[in-house]
This record gives sequence, C-alpha cells and structure tokens, in this order.
Amino acid sequence: MTFVSIVVPCYNEELVIRHTHQKILETMLKLEHEKKVSFEIVYVNDGSSDSTLTMLQNIYQESLNSLNKENKVVIISLAKNFGHQVALTAGLNYAKGAAIISIDADLQDPPEIMEKMLNYLEQGFDVVYGVRISREGETWFKLITAKLFYILLKKITNCDIPLNSGDFRLLSRRAVDVFNSLQERNRFIRGLIPWIGLKQTPIYYERHPRFAGTTKYPLRKMIKLAFDGFIGFSHFPIKFSFYLGSVTAIFSFLYGIYILLYSYFNEYAIRGWKSIMVTILFIGGVQLISIGILGEYIARIYDEVKKRPLFIIDDKNSRF
Ligand code: UDP
Ligand code: MG
Repeated sequence: MTFVSIVVPCYNEELVIRHTHQKILETMLKLEHEKKVSFEIVYVNDGSSDSTLTMLQNIYQESLNSLNKENKVVIISLAKNFGHQVALTAGLNYAKGAAIISIDADLQDPPEIMEKMLNYLEQGFDVVYGVRISREGETWFKLITAKLFYILLKKITNCDIPLNSGDFRLLSRRAVDVFNSLQERNRFIRGLIPWIGLKQTPIYYERHPRFAGTTKYPLRKMIKLAFDGFIGFSHFPIKFSFYLGSVTAIFSFLYGIYILLYSYFNEYAIRGWKSIMVTILFIGGVQLISIGILGEYIARIYDEVKKRPLFIIDDKNSRF
C-alpha cells in the first residue's frame, strides 16, 4: 500500500475549495477502499485574503470528526502570498508520501487521472506529468500567450520542457527528495522537474474550465513566471548583448571602410565626419561586446549561486 500525499496550493479559492476537497476526498477514499493507497491531503494556503484559511480549518476539523479521528488533512499556511511556485514548493517540503501528486485548487485538472498516475508509479516511473490536450474555458489571450511562451521556451532554453504541461503531476519520493535539495529562489518548477531526469512520462488529459472563481494568475504573475523560465534555464538573454555587439562591430568596420573610400574619392565630404562616425560605431560595438563578456561571467556566477547539485544518481539502477 502506497502512502500518497496530494498537494494543493490555494490562493483566494473560497468559491471552490469545498467542492475541490469533496472531489479529491472521494477519489482517494475509493482508492483507499480498493486497498491501493493510504493518503493525506496537504493544503497550502498561500496568504489568502478571503476566507480560504477558515474554510480549510473547517475542512480539517470535519475530516478529523468523520474519518475515525484519522488525520487526513494537513494545512500549511504561508505568512503572505509567496506565489504559486513557492506555495507548491512548501507543500512538497511538508508532504510525507511515498508518492506526491500536485494539483490546482480549481478543479481544472481532473482528480480521476490520479489513479492512472499511480499506475505509472507502480510501473517504476518517478515523474508522471500531466499534459493538456485541450484547454476549455480559457481566454484567447491566455491561450495565445501560453502557446508563444512554450514555443520560445523550447527554442532558447537548454532544458527539454514538455509543451503544454502544467503543475499537475505525480512525483516519487526520491524525485521529491532531489527537488527539495534544489535551493534556487526564483523557481520555475515545470523546468526543474525535467531537469532532474529520472524516469518520466507524460499523461494526457483535457483541461476543464475553472469550477468557480477567477484566475489567480494575472498578467503580472504570468510575466514573472515566464521570466523565471527563460532566465533560469537559458543564458540567451544575457548573451544577447554579445551577439548584438559583434554584429554592430562588424557593420561599423565595413561602414568605416566605406566612409574612408567615400571621403577619399569625394572632395566635398564634410571634414571630421568620418572620424566621428567610425569612432561612435566602433565604441558602441566594443561596449556591447564588453557587456556581453561581463554577462558571460555573471551567467556563470548565477549558475554557481543556484547551487543545483552537479549530478543526480539514479539509485534504483545503480549498484553500490
Ligand atoms: N495560486 C497560489 N498562489 C498564487 C496564485 C495561484 O497558490 O499566488 C494557486 C491557485 O490557488 C491555484 C493554482 O495556484 O490552485 C493555479 O492558479 P490558477 O488556477 O489561478 O491559474 P490558471 O489555471 O489560471 O493558470
Ligand atoms: Mg487554474
């Protein structure tokens, strides 16, 4: 029997949280009844300003009273709104399960899929990540920006981040242990999980509209998430000035030759013009290249301070 933790980050979800709890509980009790699992549900209250926390506390009390005094609900309440990725990290830190499933609080990801995820775990997979084959009830703006984001991410990062995956996934204990050892602060969990490696598989599902309430990912938070993805997994942005500088330097060199020839053959050329132009262009190029080189060093310092482990051992397949 596998002990499973379900981690649910919640930010101002008073309109859905009861219903979500009901659905998750039903699914898990059924699996427990079939003697497949025992479980806990870890709710992370991410500094909600509505009555989410009170409702979670009621859910906790009710579940204590009804389920033979067995404690199946855990509440981790963060001191303020730290954001989805940090809330999820906190939940993964506190979850005790041999398998940990993270799911959104708004029932966009169907809890029924969790059983299939657990089947994959039995087959020896460490990560089973949900991939949306369709996204119902989302605005065209969200759909387009999400699509663009994933295409760009694939192009410029050195990490194979699966298209259309979200934060609905199952992790084995050892995958979570490795994840918990990652110390970087600006987290893009969708990138960190593939980065870990181990045995991973997608599972496809249809994403429903939100059960109730509105999205807790306004444009500002989406941009922050996109930046964490791009900058955390790619040196391209910081190297950009180097590329730009090199191109400018080459063009200013060619232009310089042209100006020299022009003023040599044309007696009406303004005096002093050529030296000023060539100097400005050349200095510009040199400056950008220097910034690029500085950037390269900063990128490496950045890698060092992230303190990601150098390697991760697949202990299941190693022999000591
Ligand atoms: N969430 C959170 N902290 C935040 C924003 C969101 O814990 O600052 C939670 C939210 O309660 C939900 C999940 O993260 O469980 C995903 O958020 P949402 O459904 O609003 O995002 P969307 O599906 O619109 O991208
Ligand atoms: Mg949602």
